[in-house]
Amino acid sequence: MANYHGPVCRFCRREGAKLFLKGERCYTPKCAIERRAVPPGQHGQARRRKTSDYGLQLRAKQKARRTYGLLEKQFRNYFEMAEREPGVTGLNLLRHLELRLDNVVYRLGLAASRKQARQLVSHRHFTVNGRTVNIPSFQVKPGDEIRTREPASPVISVALESSRVRTVPSWLALNEAERSGRVLALPERDEMESGVEEQLIVEFYSRR
Ligand code: SF4
Repeated sequence: MANYHGPVCRFCRREGAKLFLKGERCYTPKCAIERRAVPPGQHGQARRRKTSDYGLQLRAKQKARRTYGLLEKQFRNYFEMAEREPGVTGLNLLRHLELRLDNVVYRLGLAASRKQARQLVSHRHFTVNGRTVNIPSFQVKPGDEIRTREPASPVISVALESSRVRTVPSWLALNEAERSGRVLALPERDEMESGVEEQLIVEFYSRR
């Protein structure tokens, strides 16, 4: 699946918020938001007009999409899947995003960023229930066990050290000594990304 390889700090500057796309650097004074919190581009510092409803919805969608490191088509597919399922579309969408294997690896602290998690998964560093999975979008479910394949990459140990600044959400359990984790339950809204405004995303895609 295609992936974005360009600069990412500009995404945080565009959204005016930290999206934590670069791992350890995001927690240091080198973070671009700490140094220069203006939108990127030639007109970044120009006075902005009031944002329309459409503009707000678009920004909410872009922010969520970039937080999880997805391209538009992938993100839209998740929305369409969420829309078809019973229940609240926004919550369904967020659950699909949170239950991606690369996100779970990141949330457990086995990778410094979602981007690194995606790469580690693609390079076959993890198993799910004993089977090697190299698909970052693989959807895990409650009861699944994610383990690091031996010999473990030193990158994972470094990530575990640096991720102490984050807390593992309560729907996941980390076994730090074994560099493994378990999905305990489906994530509830207050345990997912707090900066995502799912209602605006639903409104964005509901515009015909
Ligand atoms: Fe965003 Fe991290 Fe870059 Fe800061 S360092 S702007 S949080 S990606």
